[in-house]
Amino acid sequence: MELTIENFKETLVDYNIRPTYQRIKILEYLEGNKTHPTVDEIYHHLYPQIPTLSKTTVYNTLRSFADADLVLELHVDNSEVRFDINTELHGHFLCKDCGTVYDFEINTEKINDDQLFIGLDDFSIMSKNIFFTGICKKCKNQ
Ligand SMILES: [Zn+2]
Ligand SMILES: [Zn+2]
Repeated sequence: MELTIENFKETLVDYNIRPTYQRIKILEYLEGNKTHPTVDEIYHHLYPQIPTLSKTTVYNTLRSFADADLVLELHVDNSEVRFDINTELHGHFLCKDCGTVYDFEINTEKINDDQLFIGLDDFSIMSKNIFFTGICKKCKNQ
């Protein structure tokens, strides 16, 4: 299904975010670029289309998206914060060579197995982040 401006507008309203033009464009960018972009990347891509856009607006918009649980905020390797439109549980793999952050699927049945992580009895878990680093297939085969 091709997502339209109308769809993005609806999504924002569903998340109680006022659908301004800039917010719609930022959401559209995130949907179209599932590469875990940073504020800088999003700003540089959208600025030519929206000359009134400021980096602060991009930052504040992403903050409000994250607060509403519309996007995930990723802190990988002390680098700039990245944003992920995929809020379903999935793992991330950072390639130390090319810097790409890959998504990988997690077997949800197994991650909810309480034999997998030991020592958190009686803790209440609010989020689970699975984060691997290494060298990706592409860089390894170069
Ligand atoms: Zn790589
Ligand atoms: Zn991801």
